[in-house]
Amino acid sequence: LVPSLPTLVTPSRPDPLGVLGVPGEINLDYAASAPCARAAADAVAELLPWYASVHRGAGALSRRCTLAYERARQTVGDFLGARPDDHVIFTRNTTDALNLLARALPAGTTVVTFAGEHHANLLPWPRGSVRLPVPDGPGGAVRSLDAALSELSRDARPGLPVLVAVTGASNVTGERWPVADLARVAHRHGARILVDAAQLAPHAPVDLAALDVDYLALSGHKLYAPFGAGVLVGRADWLDAAPPYLAGGGATSHVGAATHEVRWTTGPARHEAGTPNLLGAVALAAVCGALAGADRDALHAREQALLARLRAGIAALPHVVELRTFGPDAPRVGIVSFVVAGRDSAEVAAHLATAHRIGVRDGLFCAHPLARRLLTEAATRSGRRDLPPTALRASLGLGTTRSDVDALLTALATLP
Ligand code: PMP
Repeated sequence: LVPSLPTLVTPSRPDPLGVLGVPGEINLDYAASAPCARAAADAVAELLPWYASVHRGAGALSRRCTLAYERARQTVGDFLGARPDDHVIFTRNTTDALNLLARALPAGTTVVTFAGEHHANLLPWPRGSVRLPVPDGPGGAVRSLDAALSELSRDARPGLPVLVAVTGASNVTGERWPVADLARVAHRHGARILVDAAQLAPHAPVDLAALDVDYLALSGHKLYAPFGAGVLVGRADWLDAAPPYLAGGGATSHVGAATHEVRWTTGPARHEAGTPNLLGAVALAAVCGALAGADRDALHAREQALLARLRAGIAALPHVVELRTFGPDAPRVGIVSFVVAGRDSAEVAAHLATAHRIGVRDGLFCAHPLARRLLTEAATRSGRRDLPPTALRASLGLGTTRSDVDALLTALATLP
């Protein structure tokens, strides 16, 4: 089933990032990894012939690469609305960023999440974390958080730090969570808030300062840049006080002869030991720069039109049931999960790939508690008893066209 290596082209699509694609292949799996933007490919191609050590060499190439790496940090921070004293730490991806923050929590911190999270935002948190049930709407999320934080500050663990960790947009349903409202509630109770922006940032502007969010994590590979570069942005104090995420070169200001004689540096370098992923950082920054210069309102409107078409098409198919947490009209990004009644999801996905050259994802999307709950809810809502135990997900992005959406709908309508 593995195709031979295709020739990549920039299809003539109305997207300002020139997202690369393979002719004839319909990619509706942007939420897993978005295809590479031309800006990222160009940035990598430009740097590849002369890359050199970052922060470690005195030669001209090394200094140039150090400058490129630090400029990339600045560009990514600006794109995400980082405050002047926030740290912008390059990581491998969102999972890495969240694990880094989990290890930087002050002793006794309670983390509050919802069961609607991706595993990356459920599993790194310490024992004793609070997992709130999936709410039935954005208002319910705010009320549930308010009640949980009241209890924590009043009765359960008064005076200890609390971190609220929520997704900006669900990787299963695409539904947007009320981040600014949740931040307000968190801060009213003296808690901090982290937003997992892995799925939100590719679809909508995210501004830490404007949202009053303390920490944000994302992955370059979902933002049209290659694998291996992500970012954790946020408040410096916990990060500077924490043990380094990785111990090694670059994270220290002094190492003596005795094993205990080590002073760790502060700033992003504290958590970036080892030679960094310069190409990844520069590619991620190139996309951030390109998106910052794009008309994001127009991009958003275009994607919403495609999403509405897809959802309306799915709703018109009697054997296909959409998964959703909130009401049908809740704001969402270009992601839709669904099931085909009476059909195994993996088989449907394989059929779409082989018969129609359409790439979607099937499974529980690394969000098992949420996906299972939504499958149960879908069975209740539709009244169908023949829904499969896993789902399908179609996700849209800058390179998606109306004919891509229509091809999926036609394929679903004509399943053999
Ligand atoms: N959070 C969300 C909402 C995601 O969709 C994903 C990726 N599916 C992650 C976190 C983890 O991202 P990564 O695999 O790049 O670490």
